[in-house]
Amino acid sequence: MTSLWLDGHRAIPVDDFSPGSTYDAVVVGAGITGLATAALLARSGMSVAVLEARSVGAGTTGNTTAKLSLLQGTVLSGLRRQYPQKVVNAYVEANREGQAWLLRHLQDTAVPFQRRDAYTFAVSDEGADRIRSELAVSSAAGLAVEEVADPGLPFPTRSAIRLPDQAQFNPMDVLESLATDFRAHGGILVEGVRVRNVTNGKTLSIRSDSGDVRAGHVVLATGTPILDRGLYFAKLRASQSYAAAFRVPASTTVPSGMYLSAETPGRSLRTYPSDTGEILIAGGNGHHVGRERSPRARLDELLDWTIRHFPGVEATHTWSGEDYRATNLMPFFGKLPRGGGRILFATGYNKWGMSNGIAASLAITADILGGHLPGPIPSTIGSRRPPGPPPRSDSTPTPLKPWPKDG
Ligand SMILES: Cc1cc2nc3c(=O)[nH]c(=O)nc-3n(C[C@H](O)[C@H](O)[C@H](O)COP(=O)(O)OP(=O)(O)OC[C@H]3O[C@@H](n4cnc5c(N)ncnc54)[C@H](O)[C@@H]3O)c2cc1C
Repeated sequence: MTSLWLDGHRAIPVDDFSPGSTYDAVVVGAGITGLATAALLARSGMSVAVLEARSVGAGTTGNTTAKLSLLQGTVLSGLRRQYPQKVVNAYVEANREGQAWLLRHLQDTAVPFQRRDAYTFAVSDEGADRIRSELAVSSAAGLAVEEVADPGLPFPTRSAIRLPDQAQFNPMDVLESLATDFRAHGGILVEGVRVRNVTNGKTLSIRSDSGDVRAGHVVLATGTPILDRGLYFAKLRASQSYAAAFRVPASTTVPSGMYLSAETPGRSLRTYPSDTGEILIAGGNGHHVGRERSPRARLDELLDWTIRHFPGVEATHTWSGEDYRATNLMPFFGKLPRGGGRILFATGYNKWGMSNGIAASLAITADILGGHLPGPIPSTIGSRRPPGPPPRSDSTPTPLKPWPKDG
C-alpha cells in the first residue's frame, strides 16, 4: 500500500536532532502545511526546526492525488448552503492565493507540474442538480467555470462543468522543493521525532520521544492538532479515501483532464506523465474513519470500476489516506486555546489541502510575523531576528484569513 509518489522517491536530505536546542519556531509535521510554513518562517530570518514523527510526506501529502484546483468537486455549493456568498468568495480567494503562491514557487524552483482543466461530472439526476448549484455558486465567486457537453470520459455523463488551466503535480517533488528552500534558509529538518506534548512557559517546551527542545512559537501541522485542547476531535471528521495508479498501454486512451464526480461514491481521475509513460490515477470511495468493515472491498471496487472503464490498464500501486473535514465544512487555522497565543494549528481541508494548506501557511506565517509575509527570498541567509511580535492572547480559531467570520 505504498503510494505512487512515495515509492522510490529520491531521499530528501534531513538534519540531526539536537535535544536542548532553542528555536524561534518549531513546526510539527512535514507535510505540505508544515514545510510551506517552515520555509516561509525561515525566509523571514527566524531560526526554525521541523520535527516529523515519520518521514517527509509520510502523512496525507504523500498519499494524495495532488490536484491543485479551484474547482473542487461540489465544495463551493456545499459551503454556500451554510454561509453567505461573501464567505464562499473569501474561501475561493484564500485558495486562489494558495494556488498562486505554490505555482510561483514551483516555477521559481523548476519543479515540474502540468496545467490541466478541472472537471466536476455527474452520472445521475441528483448529481446534475448539484452541478447546477456548483456552476451558479462558483460563477458568483468569479471562477470562469463553464458547462461542457462532453467532458471526454469513456462512460455516459448526465452533465459536467470545467474550470480551465488548473494544475497537478507529484506531491513529493513539491515537498522536496519546499524542504530544500527551508534548509537553504538555515532550517533544521528532522525525521523520526514524535512530539508528545508542548508546555507553556517563558518559551514553549516541546517534549518528544527523543528529547526536548524549546521555541517561541509552535505550529502544529499534523493534520489534526495533536494536543487535546479545544475539543477539536469533536469538531472534525476524519475520512479515509483510496487511490490507485495504473500503467496505460498504448492501445488505451485516457483523458488528460482532472476529474471529480458530484456523487457518492466519489470518483477522481487524473494522469501523471512518468519517465516510463503515462500513468492513470483513480481515487475515491471515501468513508468516515472507523465506519467501514472492509476497506479492502472499497479499494477492490475502485480497481474494478477503473479497469471496466479503461480496459487494458494495469494497477501498479494502491494506497489510502486520511483527511479531515470540519463539522461546519470550513477549514481553519488558529491559536490553540491555552497556548498563550504562541501555539498555532491548521486543519479541516476536506480533501483540498494543496491550496488550503498553502493558504493556511501564509495566514499562520503572517500571524506569527505580525501581519508581514516575507517577500522574495532575502539575501540575509543565516541572519537571525527575535521571534515575531509579542504573543497575543488566545482567541477562537478562525476560518482561514481573509475569510470573514460566519454570517
Ligand atoms: C486519497 C486522497 C486524495 C487527495 N487528493 C487531493 C487533491 O487532489 N487535491 C488536494 O488539494 N487535496 C487532496 N487531498 C487532501 C490533501 O492531500 C491533504 O489535505 C493535505 O495533504 C494535508 O496536508 P498536511 O500537511 O496538513 O498534513 P499531512 O501531509 O498529513 O502532514 C502531517 C504530518 O505530521 C506528522 N505528524 C503527525 N503527528 C505528529 C507528531 N506527534 N509529531 C511529529 N510529527 C507528527 C505526520 O507524520 C505527517 O507527516 C487528498 C487526500 C487524500 C487522502
